[in-house]
Amino acid sequence: MSENEFSDFVFSLDKDQFSNLKKTVETRIDQQLYGVTSFEEAALLYERKPVCPKCGSASCHEDGYTPAGHRRYRCDDCNNSYTLLSDSIFNSAKISFHKLMGYISLMSFNVPLEMCCEILDISANTAELWRKKIFETVNGYQDHLKLYGAIWIDETYMEDYSILHDQFSSRKRGLSRDLICIVTAIDSYKNMVAIISGHGKPSSKRIKDALKSHITPGCHIIHDGDRSHNALIRETGCTSEVYKANTKDPNYISHMALINNMHGWLKRYLWRFIGMDVVNLQSYLNWFIYLQRCKRDNELWPKTTRILRHLVLTNARFTRKY
Ligand SMILES: [Zn+2]
Repeated sequence: MSENEFSDFVFSLDKDQFSNLKKTVETRIDQQLYGVTSFEEAALLYERKPVCPKCGSASCHEDGYTPAGHRRYRCDDCNNSYTLLSDSIFNSAKISFHKLMGYISLMSFNVPLEMCCEILDISANTAELWRKKIFETVNGYQDHLKLYGAIWIDETYMEDYSILHDQFSSRKRGLSRDLICIVTAIDSYKNMVAIISGHGKPSSKRIKDALKSHITPGCHIIHDGDRSHNALIRETGCTSEVYKANTKDPNYISHMALINNMHGWLKRYLWRFIGMDVVNLQSYLNWFIYLQRCKRDNELWPKTTRILRHLVLTNARFTRKY
């Protein structure tokens, strides 16, 4: 055993003492990594506003502490009492800050749930609950995203596992109407959107519904020339540049590389959710787009800290949907 000044001390501790020591060490690690040791401290650091979750009033005063030791606020308008995190996914969180930060870090690499359970020593239910809660915070995340400059648009498809395939029926030729269509766009600044658009090849209307609000008018759209793109391009007043899909044509490959790469990232990401509930697919896509943005800006904001900030500043209440 390698000796240092704490060896004898640490090995002399009983189980409870050691457990306390471990917690203290973890707290210090959190302090060093994130500058805070609880979600409430993080909410204060990132200046989350204590807005009344019942009536939405921002007028309140501090009113002591809850039995769990959280700062309590009382609404000046409706007298409701609440904490800073009442309306967040951390309301009455039972998992420790340290474990949850570990979980968030693993989720930023999309580590499979089973592996999260193993590494963090948490139950499958806990891991699943927190994944759902975190996804809840990216609900509608893509709604406000705008792409500009040169914008590539396309579609990619994935199997709909909720549709049972008859293993004896021969697969239809061409593009199956059973495939889920994901409409994608990426600009030269690597802003991206990925929106589910029903099944099978999309119509002009579906393309417009998915992308119109994300395209800054008067930009330049680069695509494979599918007719379903025309109405979108016309109505946004964009110019159009076409490369017919042909994986043997170097011109196509080089000009469409960005969006084809995006499809590759997306597929590798979604592959981890095989057997997933298709109803959650848009959540997975939102999380993917969110993480891509975090990665893009990684130099400005260390990833896990940025996610922590996002999570404590987002109002989201996790509601069980079944
Ligand atoms: Zn109120």
